[in-house]
Amino acid sequence: MSGVRREALVFDLDGTLIDSLPDIVGAFRDAFAANELPVPAEGEVAALIGAPLEEMAARFVADEARIAAVCDAYRRIYPTRFTRSTRPFPGVVEVLRTLRADGWRLAVATTKRTSMAVRLTDALDLSPLLDHVQGTDAGVPHKPAPDVLRLAAAAVGAEPRWMVGDTVTDLQAGRAAGLRTFAVTWGTHDVARLAGERPDVLAADLDGLPAAVGTPGGGKA
Ligand SMILES: [Mg+2]
Repeated sequence: MSGVRREALVFDLDGTLIDSLPDIVGAFRDAFAANELPVPAEGEVAALIGAPLEEMAARFVADEARIAAVCDAYRRIYPTRFTRSTRPFPGVVEVLRTLRADGWRLAVATTKRTSMAVRLTDALDLSPLLDHVQGTDAGVPHKPAPDVLRLAAAAVGAEPRWMVGDTVTDLQAGRAAGLRTFAVTWGTHDVARLAGERPDVLAADLDGLPAAVGTPGGGKA
């Protein structure tokens, strides 16, 4: 450990650490089928990933009762199939190990609920590499508000330094929390969309993250 103060890196989960899009889209579509509602097209659903579940559902059904029914069905169905194809992106496990060895505290800040996010990181064997998994639970404003990032950093007892994510909402949340931002293009939003938010680093994957963030205390690797 090279830093005197504890410092943290905050990661988005879906599309950043794990390639989870097909299972999310599949479970979301299944939730419509389970309610005998017209099933949205895969592409339409994929474009909404990262938004809160209720917002996603509201794009396809109008009334509150149906939105609630779709969300309930999703939360029931998703854990039954959330590791069907979902895996950490290539190299993620090694990068997380390197960052921990460099002295960083590692936290996740996701729009998923905490209980669901923990179940998923447990199932993918990522939990031992993370100091805390923070979800967006009832009453917590979702990203781009900085609240979930601050909760994540507080839970690991560290000063947050960087936000790592795959969508513009991650970058906006990171900036709102006063963090530097590292955007990866292997997730939901493409290069052009992410570049428009002017992240400190824009990369195809996480391989360059340890060098970009250096070591706690401001040292550059
Ligand atoms: Mg994401």
